[in-house]
Amino acid sequence: MGAKIIDGKAIADEIRAELAKELEGLKTKGIEPGIATLLVGDNFGARMYRGAVEKFCAEMGFNYREETHPADISEADVIRIVESLNADAKVSGILPLRPFPEHISDSAVINSISVDKDIDCFHPFNMGKLALGEPTFPPATPSACIELMERYMKGEGIDPKDGFEGAEICVVGHSNIVGKPVSFLCLNRNASTTTVHVFTSMKGNLEKHTTAADYVVVAAGFPNLIGSEQVKEGAVVIDVGINRVIVCPECGTYNRAKKDPCKKCGADLSEAEGKTVGDANFDELVGKVKAITPVPGGVGSVTNMMLAKNTLRAARLLAGA
Ligand code: NAD
Repeated sequence: MGAKIIDGKAIADEIRAELAKELEGLKTKGIEPGIATLLVGDNFGARMYRGAVEKFCAEMGFNYREETHPADISEADVIRIVESLNADAKVSGILPLRPFPEHISDSAVINSISVDKDIDCFHPFNMGKLALGEPTFPPATPSACIELMERYMKGEGIDPKDGFEGAEICVVGHSNIVGKPVSFLCLNRNASTTTVHVFTSMKGNLEKHTTAADYVVVAAGFPNLIGSEQVKEGAVVIDVGINRVIVCPECGTYNRAKKDPCKKCGADLSEAEGKTVGDANFDELVGKVKAITPVPGGVGSVTNMMLAKNTLRAARLLAGA
């Protein structure tokens, strides 16, 4: 039997409907959730994300406040802007869109955000609460991984509490924004949680850990890192990776850039197609695992809904409701 493809888009739609009801309830009490973005300079990725947040706010029925400033603004002025966002009753959540220019310290900006408006859990206070197992705002992407696992378990008739307790979960990646918080969220649910990373691979130990896992959550930014050799039969794979690759028209190998010849067969890539893939080798795994999230259409689809959930929570906190 083939693997179950965990449909992130369908799960996101279910959550959206649940949140729409919650939002309606809040609005009848005069509570209007809103998000502010803080962008300094013109980094391409940050600008794309800003546009996506604005669109998402319009779709969700949230207020949106844009703070976009030239790269030469001073750090003191950025912090004054954060303070005005902290004081704005229409702003429930603040999203700093990094990278900031070099003269602006990430931590100075993040530490000035009100901990009650820190909807993606960047502030050390909220990361500390997450580590202690009492998060106010579990960060969006890691929460999306948990949500996908929980809804998958429910679909299989497993109570998520039982599903997590004692489960072998291997998290591949230990970044502050994905790997570590995913590991905390799994540990908080009493899973036997192993976190592996690039140094694990360098010592040749990756498979030792991943093949022991019931659930493999991979967030490495490395296409095809997890294939059939890296998982046990019947595992569940949650693929967080988002990688833009150039597919060699001759041998199908994924390459990073069009300007160089294919790293495997040397073919010219100047006319080759680009593709978005995860960190898991989907085609290989689908014959071995019990379930897997696709890329696109998996974790990324649910991430926004987790951010929306935190925005509603922040709006309630702000209103004391
Ligand atoms: P990062 O570069 O900050 O961290 C990568 C992690 O992977 C590190 O811990 C590193 O040690 C580990 N790693 C790298 N190569 C490895 C290897 N060969 N073996 C084992 N571990 C290895 O990246 P990040 O910000 O944590 O993001 C990870 C991936 O998730 C990226 O592809 C990113 O685009 C994606 N992402 C997706 C979403 C989403 O909503 N779906 C959100 C954030 C990030």
